[in-house]
Amino acid sequence: MRATSRRTLLGGLALAPALLQWAAAAETEVVVVGAGVAGLAAALELARRRVGFTVLEARGRIGGRARTESTSLGVPFDHGCSWLQAAQRNPFVGLRRERGLRLVREAAKRLWLDGRFAGAGEEASLRAALGRLERAIAEAGRAGRDVALASIFPARDRYERIALAITGPFEAGVEPERLSALKVWSRPGGLEYLVEGGLGAALATWGSAVPVELAATVRRIRRDVGRRAAPARGRGDRARTLHGGPKGARLGPAGGTARRTADPRPATRLSLSGSRP
Ligand SMILES: Cc1cc2nc3c(=O)[nH]c(=O)nc-3n(C[C@H](O)[C@H](O)[C@H](O)COP(=O)(O)OP(=O)(O)OC[C@H]3O[C@@H](n4cnc5c(N)ncnc54)[C@H](O)[C@@H]3O)c2cc1C
Repeated sequence: MRATSRRTLLGGLALAPALLQWAAAAETEVVVVGAGVAGLAAALELARRRVGFTVLEARGRIGGRARTESTSLGVPFDHGCSWLQAAQRNPFVGLRRERGLRLVREAAKRLWLDGRFAGAGEEASLRAALGRLERAIAEAGRAGRDVALASIFPARDRYERIALAITGPFEAGVEPERLSALKVWSRPGGLEYLVEGGLGAALATWGSAVPVELAATVRRIRRDVGRRAAPARGRGDRARTLHGGPKGARLGPAGGTARRTADPRPATRLSLSGSRP
């Protein structure tokens, strides 16, 4: 099987629904666990290669950590990812042309402090604190130090605490005590765009043609080494798993099994258990 680049993997953005339906109805060769962006992209790629698949998703919706919701604030709000980062090489930016999405640059930020908009001096203090944090992150990153943000930047005043809160919980969904400075430093740079209407909503529309079994939690992946047998769901005589779970999609070796552990042994039997409708 030829190597698949990220760009190629997402290249099937406009894959015909009929082809997806065909691949999902064909004998299951690959079970994709999780219908987040990685799982959906994996299913698209499998369909493009005419490989039968089944996608199992624990939640009652697709998209995983990409989710837009419009009720709580009265406007579209992305609970998870919202930015199309590194726009110059982000394959999803192509959705703009395909689906007529409107990409927007971030509006100028204003700081809300003590029940009012912050003054110029306060804004300058925050910018300075963000600058200090950025320099501390760059220093750790250049040295290859995989250390928590909080350990290299013990906040000394409220502006430094706000800077940490922006970089940690706000931008990464992780507390500074658990966020790696090295990871922050190695984030892709370049242009970033928001998507009008929400990135989660756009990705849900993009993946909506992929047939997915919802509310289907995979609780166990069983491998019996050395026997060739049918997968538990009974469609086909071998199955590989593409795991689109929290660690992202991993394509298993040809004829083998991609799995949650690092076990390099080939597997010939795969059975899935859990609640499926
Ligand atoms: C707060 C926050 C902000 C972010 N901001 C950005 C951003 O601005 N830009 C950006 O590019 N990225 C951002 N990210 C990262 C981005 O959201 C993720 O990298 C991406 O959504 C991961 O996709 P995925 O398919 O690998 O995993 P997920 O989206 O986590 O999908 C995994 C899916 O697998 C399902 N699943 C898991 N286990 C099982 C099981 N046993 N059985 C069945 N189904 C299962 C889950 O329900 C889920 O739907 C952000 C993340 C967070 C949390």
